[in-house]
Amino acid sequence: MYYDYVNVPTPCFVVEEELLKQNLEILKQVIEKTGCHILLAQKCFSMYHTYPLLSRYLSGTTASGLYEARLGRDYFGKETHVYSAAYREEEMDEIFAICDHIVFNSFSQWERYKEKAMGSGKKCGLRINPECSTQEGHAIYDPCAPYSRMGIVNADFDRDRLEGISGLHFHTLCEQNADALYETLQVVKKNFGDVLSEMEWINFGGGHHITRKDYDIDCLVECIRDMQQQYQLEVYLEPGEAVALNAGFMVASVLDLVHNGMDIAILDTSAACHMPDVLEMPYTPEIHQVISGSGENAVFSTAKVIHKQDETVEKQKYCYRLGGPTCLSGDVIGDYGFEKPLKVGDRILFKDMAIYSMVKTNTFNGMRLPSIAYKEKNGIKLIKQFGYEDFKMRL
Ligand SMILES: *Cc1c(COP(=O)(O)O)cnc(C)c1O
Repeated sequence: MYYDYVNVPTPCFVVEEELLKQNLEILKQVIEKTGCHILLAQKCFSMYHTYPLLSRYLSGTTASGLYEARLGRDYFGKETHVYSAAYREEEMDEIFAICDHIVFNSFSQWERYKEKAMGSGKKCGLRINPECSTQEGHAIYDPCAPYSRMGIVNADFDRDRLEGISGLHFHTLCEQNADALYETLQVVKKNFGDVLSEMEWINFGGGHHITRKDYDIDCLVECIRDMQQQYQLEVYLEPGEAVALNAGFMVASVLDLVHNGMDIAILDTSAACHMPDVLEMPYTPEIHQVISGSGENAVFSTAKVIHKQDETVEKQKYCYRLGGPTCLSGDVIGDYGFEKPLKVGDRILFKDMAIYSMVKTNTFNGMRLPSIAYKEKNGIKLIKQFGYEDFKMRL
């Protein structure tokens, strides 16, 4: 059975095939222009129902450890890569069996598993820390921040311990444009150029916001070609966000309306449980659509964020704070201005909820997990629904 946004059970993540395809076409262009490999970073988006589609466009997946690697191997196929800040001994046999590239975070980790690696015939790499911060503000997303545990810094990079290593990996960007990649590559070339001449491949990590409207694809293409031509390297990119950017929504319903100094709507979704980056990053998600009424009588309107970092950016007649039903006082999604007053039962579609939301949900307060749905040509299909057992099972 197919649903539409007016009747799909809430709360629900809805990922749209058409929107995914738009992103995939852009990524495919980069692959075709340069011959680089683009991998899906599963930690951002691992709705494996979509993997058959994704694998028609992309080169494979990357994983943060054994479980993601297994998911990629089982449902995506093609290349399977893995990087972890530290691996568990008992997982290594399986990791070497299912992964094509294994990236180590330190010489000590590499040497601990070197013998196994050499016997496996798989490609092994080291993650470097280029010590080149290209972002401000989000220190928790900056692997080049002081005291970072991510990657080996130049001063500790021992050229005599590279036997068996065929590539270098760096991941330093977060939601950035190609100028930040260019800047990073200049540092990588300056400090690690001698090593790159000896390598077969380089992995640029993720954080490339390739499918964002203002992204400079020509600059990215130049960066890739430069590494291919100067060092004869195979180039890998492993974006997460760019694959599913703006490709999905969170659909939530208004459960109650209260007032305390301002109007407040309590929804059946929660920032803390269903979109934790709203509190962690933090950010305020945009609203795509508001739906009042049902069936034929549904009326569509929109709403705007009115507060960003304590600053009023938009004034509107009907203002509401949207929050979750949990007992966390700070379970607030944001303050929004609406075209019309809200009513119980109204539906709200939050934008850009495919990435770093579905993978981060939790059942704090015994919250019901959002259903997972996929919008295809004929309508919205429910892929998964969750219940009491899913809550109980983890405790
Ligand atoms: C998080 C991460 C990615 C994906 O990053 P996005 O910002 O989602 O593109 C890729 N590689 C590594 C090593 C990561 O930690």
